[in-house]
Amino acid sequence: MNGLVTDELWIGIDLGGTWVRVVVSDENGHFVAKTSEKVDKSSAKAISDQMIRLTHFLCKEQGFGIKSLRGVGIAATGPLIQEEGVLIHPTAMPFDCVPITKPISEELGIPSCLINDAAGAALGEKMFGAAKGLDNYAYITISTGIGCGAIVNGTLLLGKDGNAHEVGHIVIDYEGRLKCGCGKRGHWEAYCSGNNIPNFLRMRLKDMPKKKVEKSLLFRMAGGDLSRLSAVDLFAAAGKADNMSVGLVKEIGVLNAIGFANVINAYDPSLITVGGTVTLKNRAMILNPIRKHVKDYVINRIPKIKVTPLGDDVGLYGAIAAALRYTS
Ligand SMILES: [Zn+2]
Repeated sequence: MNGLVTDELWIGIDLGGTWVRVVVSDENGHFVAKTSEKVDKSSAKAISDQMIRLTHFLCKEQGFGIKSLRGVGIAATGPLIQEEGVLIHPTAMPFDCVPITKPISEELGIPSCLINDAAGAALGEKMFGAAKGLDNYAYITISTGIGCGAIVNGTLLLGKDGNAHEVGHIVIDYEGRLKCGCGKRGHWEAYCSGNNIPNFLRMRLKDMPKKKVEKSLLFRMAGGDLSRLSAVDLFAAAGKADNMSVGLVKEIGVLNAIGFANVINAYDPSLITVGGTVTLKNRAMILNPIRKHVKDYVINRIPKIKVTPLGDDVGLYGAIAAALRYTS
C-alpha cells in the first residue's frame, strides 16, 4: 500500500458545489489514494450515497477493509449544522437539508464529522501546511464562492452551528447593487467570487462608453454577448493587457482588499493563506491588488498574505484534519 507504515487510516472528503473528492490518508497527512466525481445532485440522499460508494471503491482498490478506517471527515460548502452533521439550504445544491454524517457513520460503521470547508482548510493548514506553529491564522478561499476559516489564540472559531466564518457574506456595498447567491444584497461574494464576477462585469460595463466596451478583448471573447461574460475570460483578457479588463481586475482587487481588511480587523491573524480556484489560477492578479490596497482599510498590523502551499488539496487536508481532531 504505497509504503504505508500504519494501519490507522482516515477518509477525507471535500464536498464542493460541483465536485466531490475523496482521499485515504494516514495521520501524518500522507495521501494513500484519491478519487473524485461530479456531485450527484439527483436527490439529497444521493450525496451521502455517493460518498459511501467512493469510500468503498478506494478501500477495494487499495486492498484493505473498511475496518482499517478510524474515521471520516467531510469538509463541505455551507451553511451547515456541524453538531447534527447536516447541510442546511446549501447555496450550491437545491435541497433544504442534506444529511451527511448519520448515513455515512451508519453505513460504514465508523465515526464521521462534518466541517465547513474553509474552517476545515484552516485546520488543515495548521496541521499540515503553512500555519504549523501559529496561534493566529486565517485561510481565505476565492473560488465558486468566498469563505474563511480562522484560528484565534490557537482555537478554531466555529460558532453555534459551525458557520462562524461566512465572510463571503459580509457587506462590502451598502447600496447593495448586486444580489448574492444567498438572496441578500451587497455581499463580498456577490462581486468577487468566480460565479458572480460576471454579474459585476455586467454592472460595470453598463456604465462604460459603448465604444470602449466594444473595443475590448473581453467583449470580443464573449462573442459580443454580455450574458456570456466569464471570470475565466476576464483574467485571460487582463493577462493579455486588455486595458478594460486590467482595470476591472484592479476594481475586483480593491473589493477583495476590503474583504481581507475585514478579516484582519476581526481576527488579527499573523498569516493569511489564500486558496480557491480563482486564486490558484490567477495568483498575481488576485494577490497583488489585495497587498496594495489592504492598507487603506485596516487598523490592525497587516499580516503576511500568501497562496496556500497545499494548493487544490487544501480542502482534503482540511477534511483529514477534521477527522483526526473530531473522530479519534
Ligand atoms: Zn450572501
